[in-house]
Amino acid sequence: MKKNQAVILKEEREKPVKNRHHWIFSGAIKSFPEDFEEGSILPVLSNQGELLGHAYFNRKCSLIGRIVSFGKTPPLKEIEENIRKAIKFREYLTRKETNAYRLINGEGDFLPGLIVDRYGEVLVIQVTTLGMEKLKPFILDKLVKAVKPVCVYEKSLSPSREEEGLSEFEGILYGEKIDRIKILEAGISFFVEFENSQKTGFFLDQSEMRSLVRLFSSGKKVLDCFSYTGGFSVSALKGGATRVDAVDSSERALSLARENVVLNGIDVSSFNPYPEDAFKFLRECDTFYDFIILDPPAFARKKKDIISAARAYKDINRIAIERVSPGGLLMTFSCSYYIEESLFRKVVFQAAREAGRRARIIQKHRLSFSHPINIFHPESEYLKGLFLYLD
Ligand code: SAH
Repeated sequence: MKKNQAVILKEEREKPVKNRHHWIFSGAIKSFPEDFEEGSILPVLSNQGELLGHAYFNRKCSLIGRIVSFGKTPPLKEIEENIRKAIKFREYLTRKETNAYRLINGEGDFLPGLIVDRYGEVLVIQVTTLGMEKLKPFILDKLVKAVKPVCVYEKSLSPSREEEGLSEFEGILYGEKIDRIKILEAGISFFVEFENSQKTGFFLDQSEMRSLVRLFSSGKKVLDCFSYTGGFSVSALKGGATRVDAVDSSERALSLARENVVLNGIDVSSFNPYPEDAFKFLRECDTFYDFIILDPPAFARKKKDIISAARAYKDINRIAIERVSPGGLLMTFSCSYYIEESLFRKVVFQAAREAGRRARIIQKHRLSFSHPINIFHPESEYLKGLFLYLD
């Protein structure tokens, strides 16, 4: 390996890469090749000249490089192999009567900068880095050959693309345009739309928790706050809830939620949509519920938002706890990466204390099987949740 064509790391900063962590920060670089195109894949050497792997680099970002293959394996061979393994892993783990799940989960599948969600015959991909953008034609080709989708839609709207020098992009990459598809998750049907949707269309990371909601909803009056297209609402009704009130600021999401209720043959009179601000709804609410679900959007998008976000999480949890009837349930989440699990737990503790209620944790968040976390790269973990029984 010629040293002048490779990236050399500082000796004291080699350890994370040797431990199979995918990220290289600018401070870890001892030297770059004299000239290279941003986003291209380069060999990464230790200070002693050992080949540690290959990474794509973009000098515009402080997170300057991401490893795509460790050790001596050629990068494209490793990428192709990781796509194949990601697909195989889902065949092995995906539950019965389910055709929607995450197919590729970034570093969780050793493919930094790439998310691929499968909705039956539609794949929705999300690219967050310039390096992955350059690999897109290669990846698309492998995905199309392996999965044979009718449509591959790209939805790359992440704010982190700006730092990478990429603009937002949404559109068809392959096949025919499909606006809406009917998916099946653990035997429940949902319509998923791709344009103007949240994330890639549906919150596939909550599939295990939807099953838990179904399990605990029999005979209960349920409130689904931040309901989006009714993932939890429909699960509760399928589990025998007598009534579900769903609150979301998006009328479009609620109208799809209503369609999802009908799609599953459920009497629509048991579903009440409220197109409102959830904080306002809870503050003005005079109903007690047997089961409340709180799944808000990320309140902390940046590190500096932590304090204000913690306050917002505490407020929404307190006002929700006040509306849970004695002997009732609260399932509460945070999808803010910067609110760590221990902090979230303290926030919910404080909310219960202020509401003057005894609360017991009966379950924590259960990750969807299709969202594996690479043990060498814990940064992909963002979602946390508590399932509480309130006296
Ligand atoms: N629970 C959903 C996902 C929730 S995503 C599921 O499992 O599918 C967050 C949702 O909160 C979005 O649908 C968004 O429209 C809604 N939202 C954002 N801010 C809100 C607010 N202040 N009040 C009510 N809904 C809000």
